[in-house]
Amino acid sequence: MLSKRYLNFDKRKKCLSCNSKNLTEILNLGLHSFADRFIKKNDLKKKDPSYPLVLDFCKKCSFIQSKYKTNPKDRYINYDYSYTSSNSKYSINHWKKYADNLERNYNLKNKTVIEIGSNDGLLSFFIKKKAKEVISIDASPFMVKLARSKKLKSYCYIFNFENSKKIKKISGLADIIIANNVFNHADDPKNFLKGVKNLLKKDGKFIFEQPYFLKTLATKKFDQIYHEHISYFTVKNIKNLLAKVGLKINKLYFNQYHGGSVRTICSFNQTASQKKNQVSKIRYEENKGIYKLNFFKNYSVYINKNKARINKIVNFYKMRKFKVIGVGAGAKTNTYLTFNDLNYEKIDFVTDASKFKIGKFTPHTRIPIKNDKIIKKYKKIVCIILSWNISTLLQNKLIKINKGIKFIKP
Ligand SMILES: [Zn+2]
Repeated sequence: MLSKRYLNFDKRKKCLSCNSKNLTEILNLGLHSFADRFIKKNDLKKKDPSYPLVLDFCKKCSFIQSKYKTNPKDRYINYDYSYTSSNSKYSINHWKKYADNLERNYNLKNKTVIEIGSNDGLLSFFIKKKAKEVISIDASPFMVKLARSKKLKSYCYIFNFENSKKIKKISGLADIIIANNVFNHADDPKNFLKGVKNLLKKDGKFIFEQPYFLKTLATKKFDQIYHEHISYFTVKNIKNLLAKVGLKINKLYFNQYHGGSVRTICSFNQTASQKKNQVSKIRYEENKGIYKLNFFKNYSVYINKNKARINKIVNFYKMRKFKVIGVGAGAKTNTYLTFNDLNYEKIDFVTDASKFKIGKFTPHTRIPIKNDKIIKKYKKIVCIILSWNISTLLQNKLIKINKGIKFIKP
């Protein structure tokens, strides 16, 4: 799968974890725009920034990372970043439980917490009720504005070592640093960790959650792969990366958020039983075969076969004058639609509950985003549930709106 077409794009030449140049391509999903960037009607004439979405594997340390560099300004600043944590009941509930869990495990009352990648401030807001102080950091000016409207101390920075010095002047050292679904977005994860170390007390905890790549592989849902995600984390990779700044895994929580996430709690210390647990988790991953190149060859074959299947079914319904729609305009939706060549000619619209997305269009595939309620209007309608991780929930909701709706397996 040599990607000669991509000569004009800037590649990462070294492993982001161990600096080895011994990188090999394991997955090529073609050209994609940024997944979290939905297009306003007025901007439809503008060309999407597009980059090849390709993953590399480090033969020396097994780190998995995106091969091509993208411009972070294109991602968060030049366009309104549309994802808000408060988007659905499901995610509100997830972050509320997260805050409750923090309180149960750490006496938050006298703790200073910094949240990196605080998005619209939802989790910070829940923590603020329990902790001494919460400082929220986000790279998107739009999100900082939303967080401030919740009366949070919110500041706009792309998190890295340099900016951690500026943040330190505002916050001082933190007892707990949280970074959910943002550490994997860092262009330089080691530099990000250096920033964390700079802001963390000696006995402090760094807690971060993001998609668990083993789950992405096991479910055969490649849609957690998109440009905003630079690093693809497994327990082995997390352990190796943390070690660069002396951080060690204390606990791992696996949950179903984003279709399979891992929350890592780490500090500068590790007990013998914590180490034992880490070793057994890594062995489990190795036994699944994900550190062998052959695994990815089979993976590619599968997702390409599935692409042919989906297109055949979509054509079938299109020919019979059905409305063919997608449900859920998440970031991962865009990887799925773009990879499978499902554009506005094949998909009539995508529905979503977020007021920040309705009225906009998907990047690249240019499908309009509409409110769920519109499905009531159609007698012949079939849908692909793109937010497959909450498909039962959505299926029940959709049937209530339109009894006749049919479903296509994504
Ligand atoms: Zn490496």
